[in-house]
Amino acid sequence: MNESINLPQNPSLDIITSFTKTERVILIVDDLPDNLRVLSAALSGQGFQIRCAKSGAIALMAVETTSPDLILLDIKMPDMDGYEVCQRLKSSAATCDIPIIFLSALDDVFDKIKAFNMGGADYITKPFQVEEVLIRVKYQLALKASQLEIRQLNEELELRVEQRTEELARINEELALEIIERKHTAECLRVSEERLESILASIEDVVWSMHPTASQFIYFNAAVEKIYGYPTSKFFEDPEFWLKVIHLEDRERIEIANRSIMATGTVSEEYRILRPDQEVRWVSDRRYLVYDRDGNVIRIDGIVRDITDHKRAQDQLVHDALHDSLTGLPNRNLFMDRVEQALKYSNRHSQYMFAVMFIDLDRFKMVNDIHGHMIGDQFLQAIAKLLGSCLRSVGDTVARLGGDEFTILVDDIQEVSEALMIADRILSKLLLPINLPTQTIFASASIGIVISNRDYVNSTDLLRDADIAMYRAKSLGKGRYILFDKEMYEQNLKASQLDSDLHYALERQEFELYYQPIISLTSDQLAGFEALIRWHHPERGLVSPSEFIPIAEETGLIIAIGDWVLNQACQQISTWQSKFLEAKSLKMSINLTCQQIREKNLLEKLDRVLATTGIDGSTIRLEITESSMMDQGEETIAKLEELCARNIQLSIDDFGQGYSSLSYLHRFPINTLKIDRTFVEQMSLGGQNLEIIRTIIILAHALDMNVVAEGVETHEQMSILKQLGCEYAQGYFFSRPIIAAAAEQMIRSQTT
Ligand code: C2E
Ligand code: MG
Ligand code: MG
Repeated sequence: MNESINLPQNPSLDIITSFTKTERVILIVDDLPDNLRVLSAALSGQGFQIRCAKSGAIALMAVETTSPDLILLDIKMPDMDGYEVCQRLKSSAATCDIPIIFLSALDDVFDKIKAFNMGGADYITKPFQVEEVLIRVKYQLALKASQLEIRQLNEELELRVEQRTEELARINEELALEIIERKHTAECLRVSEERLESILASIEDVVWSMHPTASQFIYFNAAVEKIYGYPTSKFFEDPEFWLKVIHLEDRERIEIANRSIMATGTVSEEYRILRPDQEVRWVSDRRYLVYDRDGNVIRIDGIVRDITDHKRAQDQLVHDALHDSLTGLPNRNLFMDRVEQALKYSNRHSQYMFAVMFIDLDRFKMVNDIHGHMIGDQFLQAIAKLLGSCLRSVGDTVARLGGDEFTILVDDIQEVSEALMIADRILSKLLLPINLPTQTIFASASIGIVISNRDYVNSTDLLRDADIAMYRAKSLGKGRYILFDKEMYEQNLKASQLDSDLHYALERQEFELYYQPIISLTSDQLAGFEALIRWHHPERGLVSPSEFIPIAEETGLIIAIGDWVLNQACQQISTWQSKFLEAKSLKMSINLTCQQIREKNLLEKLDRVLATTGIDGSTIRLEITESSMMDQGEETIAKLEELCARNIQLSIDDFGQGYSSLSYLHRFPINTLKIDRTFVEQMSLGGQNLEIIRTIIILAHALDMNVVAEGVETHEQMSILKQLGCEYAQGYFFSRPIIAAAAEQMIRSQTT
């Protein structure tokens, strides 16, 4: 029978043996005391604690007090059988795990099945062998222990699984978060890329990227088509294409500059490109290397900007800075730069020679005053054109310095005559009338010419000398050219020395008035005097007014000097008038320069001097040279009318020296015409000059003027003038200019 019960495979006997040593509690339930005793003895001998119960009820009570590790349960018992006890124990959670081994005399297989169904762990048939019971008990205990262990392990495992699951859930959550984050980042990246692309598409500059070694473009924005005029594909297909569209003159420079990028890290250049429609555009190209974190070059990026408009504006600015806005000619800066270049070249090439011309229009102010500034501007533009047409080759430069001043650089001449020829050409072209849209104007110019030589070290010296020569041309009567020579410079130096001395001449009382008698040819009587200034220079002695008056005019000192002359001369005639009754009819001629005439308070000055000296306005006669008279405008004519109203006489001095517009002349309220000395000098009977003088006298009379002949040195001259009906004469024949005392003597002798 025993063999029919299969022992579980596990646990092994070792484990079973080891359990014998632990203090396990075993409850033996049997109604037969013998059985209880035998089993109790056997099991306690194995180190187990034994509890015994004689009935099922006692057994259940015992289990309630102390839970045994194993129960040996008899089936057949009087009040409650083993099945019921087992069932009760198994149905309670506190006791269901206690292994129950049935001990029964029932040997039927159904009893055994029932026992196992009730939850029994084993079944031992009576009569039993103690050894078998022992081994089965130990086995069940071991089994229980291992079940316990397994349960613990299971629990532990479950705990770990739970922990793991939790951990996994957390990781999952984290992962989910990360995925969301990544998705968000990717979305942000996409949005930012889209934004970047839209920005790049909308900007006007070309933005590009290139592979650093393969020289292959990676990226171009849309602007490339707009600026270059070619489809973007062209640039991707041929990495050299961008180079091919560079203007031929710039290409090599850019190629060389570009090669340095690996060494320099960046290249910035400006150059021209040629579009398919052949339009040339300027671009600025800035390219730079892009590195990764380890410092390796990963890309070349670049920006190309269309700077054509900027360049044009810049060119215009440069052009404006170097050109005269009215005529479009080079201005002083550009001209001086060209002269400087020519000078440098001539220093290196001894054969090379050039000339500088200084051209100043004569009487330009008159054009402005009479015709207005608009015509004045048109006139200057016409002159600019005319000068340009007189140049020889492309090397020559005509410039406008300002106002009516022009300059010409005559480049690379073999001989001085080449420059003179140009000056001649200019002067002869100027002889022709200049036809403006609404006016025809006659022009004239004074030209100073200087030829380069090794002594010149800077351009300003050249211009200065041309200017000196031009002034000489002016003082010699305008409408001509003068070639500069060193002597002129020295004279100029002398003049500037005089200029500084002149500043002190008034306060040091170095001036004196001389008086030259003017004789009436009708009565042969003294008619008056011309006051002529003399300067007693402390070192140079007597300096001629022809030398210092022009200087005083230039510096403006003429106003103070003129005031002194006016006061002195009026004072003198007033003194003589009070001394000599006859002197009442004498006239005092006083020379006035154009600056004095233009002076705003001239009339007040005259009124004051007339008031202080008590002389009548008719006593003084103001002499104005023909040329300065011609330079005056409408405003001055009105002023001269005012003089007339005060009975002050007006005289045109040096008539015939310049050329007057006769129609212009009659507009001035002039009383007297003084024929220039040069006509009188060359006057001889039957000669041409005689006829000129005759004509002047007729003209003067026709215009209701009387005539004074200057520079009469001989009796013959006097008598011819008398015959021609000239009213007055002045000259060495009668008297040189004399000091006041001598003049007074002359008045006295006339009266006696
Ligand atoms: P001007 O007004 O034509 O004066 C006449 C000049 O001719 C004087 O020269 C006089 O000395 C000179 N002269 C007179 N008779 C003869 C003659 O028979 N033969 C020769 N060869 N010469 C004669 P001066 O005094 O040297 O004056 C020269 C110029 O200086 C004057 O020419 C005048 O334009 C200017 N000037 C003189 N004094 C004054 C002044 O007080 N104020 C101004 N603004 N200019 C003056
Ligand atoms: Mg005079
Ligand atoms: Mg004169």
